[in-house]
Amino acid sequence: MTEPSRVLVLNSGSSSVKYQLLEMADGSRLAAGIVERIGERGGRHTHRPIAQGGEVRTVERQVPDHAAALRSVSEQLAGDGLGLDSPALAAVGHRVVHGGTRFTEPTLVTDDVIEEIEDLVPLAPLHNPANLSGIRVIRELRPDLPQVAVFDTAFHATVPEAAARYAIDRDTADRLSVRRYGFHGTSHQYVSRRTAELLGRPLESVNIIVLHLGNGASASAVAGGVCVDTSMGLTPLEGLVMGTRSGDIDPAAIFHLHRVGGLAVDEIDDLLNRHSGLLGLCGDNDMREIGRRMAEGDAHAREAFDIYTYRLRKYVGAYCAVLGRVDAVAFTAGVGENSPAVREAALRGLEGFGIEVDPVLNAVRGSAARVVSPAEARTAVAVVPTDEELEIARQSYSLVQSQG
Ligand code: AMP
Repeated sequence: MTEPSRVLVLNSGSSSVKYQLLEMADGSRLAAGIVERIGERGGRHTHRPIAQGGEVRTVERQVPDHAAALRSVSEQLAGDGLGLDSPALAAVGHRVVHGGTRFTEPTLVTDDVIEEIEDLVPLAPLHNPANLSGIRVIRELRPDLPQVAVFDTAFHATVPEAAARYAIDRDTADRLSVRRYGFHGTSHQYVSRRTAELLGRPLESVNIIVLHLGNGASASAVAGGVCVDTSMGLTPLEGLVMGTRSGDIDPAAIFHLHRVGGLAVDEIDDLLNRHSGLLGLCGDNDMREIGRRMAEGDAHAREAFDIYTYRLRKYVGAYCAVLGRVDAVAFTAGVGENSPAVREAALRGLEGFGIEVDPVLNAVRGSAARVVSPAEARTAVAVVPTDEELEIARQSYSLVQSQG
């Protein structure tokens, strides 16, 4: 019998489940899809049977909970002959958002691990419960199948204390686990490795600033493959300006909003996480729309763009100082991969640091990893499409294989 060689990657969010089935022999996708609006009206499952080359299938039906969502995934996969009962399936790899300080590596799921992820729920109250329900449902459907938790925080576990510890009362911080954890770790890890490959240099020998700019956005400083600082903190709110999150803000603004504005804590949470960032500044959180409005001379869209790119430049400068020598700045995720204007504006004026973009290379669109800086530049600027699913699948597969 041939060895099982497929990994199902699950990313269970609070109201959606995204999945991809990968063949690890060549990293190809066999199927992918998303179940949306779990627990809401108008549930929908969109399934792409990639290996079969068939039509995308969309099923509109109520999806009351994650169990129902995963049963639907299982049914659709079975319809392609790729069901959860397939002996070719080696593992399910789960994206788990918060691993705290406990989980710094991909981890085989056991009863104890489930309990420990549960203990971390207060640090990620929306995400970890969703991730756990994915794990539990797969256990019911295929109890014998190895499951691996790959943590969004794990890659940042190497961030030294000087960057990870907030300057607040030590006992309070430790008692309540208040410190910098960082997120998007799988993406930062994947992109830093791909960037070294793109430069044709060993990962251990290069220092890279990774800018993951999606709807959520974060920067990290990676020295020789080891993360030494990252912009997100205790939660994904800190750091860069994002689609709907403010990023860095004086914490005393929260007291002000509460005491003077009369906003309750939950309202401030909602304001800073869901109604701030680009959306709060100009009413749109999609960079494409902001670009269109800027072209028409819209002042708020322009200002939102300027605030967004100024914050980026500030972090790039800070991480130049953190790393001492920077071999590459890598842009990834929706905005980073697709917006030449953001890349150009974020790095404008950094020539003195050896960082610049070539306007012609930067304007070229494409899906391949590429260098967009002039050949003679001291620091390469790269566009590197991220692939968190492939990274989760690889880490899961290699852990399962090492367990024999
Ligand atoms: P992600 O979270 O990585 O899927 O990124 C989503 C974001 O990428 C969207 O909200 C857009 O702001 C941005 N985006 C996607 N395509 C483009 C594009 N062609 N140009 C500029 N921004 C884009």
